[in-house]
Amino acid sequence: MKRTKYVIANWKMNGQKDSYKLVKSISNYHKKMKRKTSKVVICPPFTLLSEFIKKEKNIKFGGQDCHHKSEGAYTGSISAKMLKSINCQYVILGHSERRIYQKETSQELNLKIQSAINNNLKVIYCIGEKLEEIKKRSIILKKQLSSLPKKIEPKKVIIAYEPVWAIGTGKVPSLNDINKIHKKIRNILSNLVSPDFSRHVSILYGGSVNAKNSADILNLNQVDGALVGGASLKSKEFCKIIDSYH
Ligand code: PEP
Repeated sequence: MKRTKYVIANWKMNGQKDSYKLVKSISNYHKKMKRKTSKVVICPPFTLLSEFIKKEKNIKFGGQDCHHKSEGAYTGSISAKMLKSINCQYVILGHSERRIYQKETSQELNLKIQSAINNNLKVIYCIGEKLEEIKKRSIILKKQLSSLPKKIEPKKVIIAYEPVWAIGTGKVPSLNDINKIHKKIRNILSNLVSPDFSRHVSILYGGSVNAKNSADILNLNQVDGALVGGASLKSKEFCKIIDSYH
């Protein structure tokens, strides 16, 4: 079984009423591509998700977070069940910005992952070390990966390795390091979940991916795609990233 490749856009807290034109231009480009090498998923803010899902069938969409409970007195939160009810198919969980600003814990993320999976959402699970944690990267990644359920099928989750120090900074690990770290993540997953899971799960790279560096990164043999922040808000740039595979 070949691993599925993805290019995923994380719009973060960006996108207004008129942002559908960005989705449309990406979708048109993707339709015209002769060789569709990867699945394209766009994760806009919640305010735009339902409209995009109704209007655009060629692209898949995801939320940027979900609560672990299905409903209740949790002001401001959105549940996995709610995302599923609007035909959303993916959800980003554990993004470093939420781990930092919302103080999301491993335990909470474990509950969120389970809730997302129970509601048939595919989880884009983000992991990555901070600059000051580089020397203990393996321990950090192992701890973050421990939030995954012990029994989980590879098709239910996508791992996104995003070194925190590379997000929005223009700094990217060397190609050799990216490939080595992805291999390390597979080793950790082999022990934490199973060798079969680790062989088949897609592992994406995220952190300052742009049209200039995407071909080098996406064609590494351990890399199954990219999670893209800033560059996903520019149509031409993002389309070039989608088209990076040799
Ligand atoms: C992200 O935050 O998921 C991300 C990859 O951001 P950027 O591409 O802007 O570094």
